[in-house]
Amino acid sequence: MSSWRRPFPVVFSFFFVLAVIVWYFSRQGNTLWVFLVDTGARHRQVWAFLSEPEAHTDWIIEAGTRCGEAPFEMPSGGFIGYLWDDSFRPGHRHTGLDIFSGREPGVAPVYAAADGYITRQPTWKSALIQRLPEDPLHPDQQIWLYYTHMADPQGNSFIVDDFPPGTREVFVKAGTLLGYQGNYSGDPANPVGVHLHFSIVRDQNGSYLNEQKIENTLDPSPYLGMVLNAHQSDGSVTRCNGEVTP
Ligand SMILES: [Zn+2]
Repeated sequence: MSSWRRPFPVVFSFFFVLAVIVWYFSRQGNTLWVFLVDTGARHRQVWAFLSEPEAHTDWIIEAGTRCGEAPFEMPSGGFIGYLWDDSFRPGHRHTGLDIFSGREPGVAPVYAAADGYITRQPTWKSALIQRLPEDPLHPDQQIWLYYTHMADPQGNSFIVDDFPPGTREVFVKAGTLLGYQGNYSGDPANPVGVHLHFSIVRDQNGSYLNEQKIENTLDPSPYLGMVLNAHQSDGSVTRCNGEVTP
């Protein structure tokens, strides 16, 4: 019997499959609307930049740049390739911004974006986290700044010696050298393009939450004074449209 004779099972099957898809993604803390993010424009820009960085030097924002009245400084120099809440695959939501220097691993410096207390867990090869007791935009709450990919593909760290594994609560001023951009991914056979991943992580009871979940991170746009939310970007290269404070 052909299916048009029994539309109910067909319609039921369609909605059942739809319900399963919705359930699957909502279970992961994702919503279907993330598919509407046009990460494709950023993929093309990142590819163009990494293929020929010297042809796109006007896309680079210098380390230490403070855009307008933004409370944070650019933690590293480069092209801001991916934004907060970009999506690299169905269900994925990017929790920070990716700054591509266009340089070799271990060359482009990474600096503290704000004043705060540095911690490096004993197992961390490529990452640091920085506690800010007062969120400059919401002083009643504590936040954390996460800096990662500061190692080579084998996990040889590019973090400076001042912050060895096991570092706890070392105060640094904004602009303090933390390390250098790398391409560590955890899989030596598949390194990432050289960049700094930088994110702003929420606090719960004095500890940082899992920075890999979008709901545990904050939109970095108002902290750096630029459009860094994938949903608000028009697809053009990210720039500081205000005055740059030296
Ligand atoms: Zn990233």
